[in-house]
Amino acid sequence: MKKLLVTGGAGFIGSEFVRQGVKRGYKIVLIDNLTYAGDVERIKAVEKEVTFYRVDIADRESVKGVFKTERPEVVVHFAAESHVDRSILEASPFLDTNVKGTYVLLDVSKQHEIERFINISTDEVYGELKEEGQFLETTPLNPNSPYSVSKASADMLGRAYHRTYGVPVITVRPSNTYGFWQYPEKLIPVVILKALNNEKIPVYGTGQNIREWLFVSVCADGVFGILEKGKVGETYNVGSGEEKRNIEVVKAILKLLGKPEDLIEFTKDRLGHDFRYSLNSNKVREQTGWNGEMPFSEGIKNTVEWYIDNMAWVDSKLGYLNKYWQTVYSTNTIKRTLKKP
Ligand code: NAD
Repeated sequence: MKKLLVTGGAGFIGSEFVRQGVKRGYKIVLIDNLTYAGDVERIKAVEKEVTFYRVDIADRESVKGVFKTERPEVVVHFAAESHVDRSILEASPFLDTNVKGTYVLLDVSKQHEIERFINISTDEVYGELKEEGQFLETTPLNPNSPYSVSKASADMLGRAYHRTYGVPVITVRPSNTYGFWQYPEKLIPVVILKALNNEKIPVYGTGQNIREWLFVSVCADGVFGILEKGKVGETYNVGSGEEKRNIEVVKAILKLLGKPEDLIEFTKDRLGHDFRYSLNSNKVREQTGWNGEMPFSEGIKNTVEWYIDNMAWVDSKLGYLNKYWQTVYSTNTIKRTLKKP
């Protein structure tokens, strides 16, 4: 089986991809510099089967060293600063990792005989939609946040390295992904944790913003489909087709936990908040046979149960999170150790 070099493999989606990759029989080499968002706990179940390098993707010499030693056949690039709110507070890590780091990986890949470079981008590069319409792979990029601008830069660098140097890049643009092991700064785990602790749940604006929710294992499965059957030089949207307003997501979680809706507290809206993203994912379905099925009602139930069963992991993040919540939402913090309900 092929040797994959997976960047950001200790992150939320990257670790799911690594766990699936091991099951599918791939040889996996993983690069991650373990920022606050990275955690080797996520890959503990497969640690004996993967080779891990704690390396910053923007550090050219270290990246070159890994390529020289490991000679990967395929690069799957997930590593990124991934949280929009943090990019609004401080953009520079986003430029360092997402732009420079992607450039370094592409440039080092240029010197090696790789078969594929899967560049994980995001639906956010397209900018926002109103109530109607969908993004096609050909829709011009129009990103609005420092995060999405850094991802659009990485996305376009990948396309340029294919066109200019023939690096075999395939671009993947997934929609909002949720599920097990997501760092508890993103909407769904924040709501679960705050609700479990009977804390007020901060919701931006009036909660009307719309996202397309994709379960993490389905997202990783889509990336494998593209790796195995996608065409070099192409771009693929990967979305579930399940659009939800933020307020609907919050209410669904409260219902599952049997908590009252008066825990919801509307806060000042995110600066530059995109209203809606929606992907047309026909191309990935037609060209790779991926059919990404996990109804939101089922995925969210499984996710809530996973967080309840994995409180110890969440607890280990609380010190860091409380500081962060105060900065971003000026909200109350969780002081107690979380208990199973
Ligand atoms: P994440 O924040 O959970 O994980 C990112 C990982 O990258 C972490 O393990 C972190 O330690 C590592 N990392 C960060 N900077 C690094 C550096 N300089 N060198 C090496 N490693 C570094 O992110 P995620 O949610 O798993 O997202 C993975 C990818 O998918 C990202 O490229 C993101 O932009 C994209 N994406 C995410 C979503 C989503 O909803 N989560 C949706 C679409 C696209």
